[in-house]
Amino acid sequence: MKVLDIKFDSIPLKCGICHSEILNSSKIYNSEILFIPFCYECEKTFDKDDKELLLSILAKYGGYFGMFSYEKYSLIDDLDYILKENIIINDQEDLEKINIRLLHNALLHGISIQEYILKLELMI
Ligand SMILES: [Zn+2]
Repeated sequence: MKVLDIKFDSIPLKCGICHSEILNSSKIYNSEILFIPFCYECEKTFDKDDKELLLSILAKYGGYFGMFSYEKYSLIDDLDYILKENIIINDQEDLEKINIRLLHNALLHGISIQEYILKLELMI
């Protein structure tokens, strides 16, 4: 990851992952693929691949990591909700869309990618 040299103006710069304001201009990072800044805490917390995945999912579907209560997250509730929509799954692409939707909601609740995968594995 490279450190950006950004001049601050009146608009506070927010982390693309956790949405905290980036107050220290010497602690701004940017992904190598997406031009979205993130904070020092997220730089420390997530590995390179996780950051790219987090940034791309959050940029595409909105929200931020930890937007909702961690304690109120339930993968089973999310699956129940999706099943009630009677979604037709025709191929791998349809499954991936569901997986990304589930992962996105997990991220909004501050569930890491590893925690999400573990929760899926525990259901199998
Ligand atoms: Zn952050």
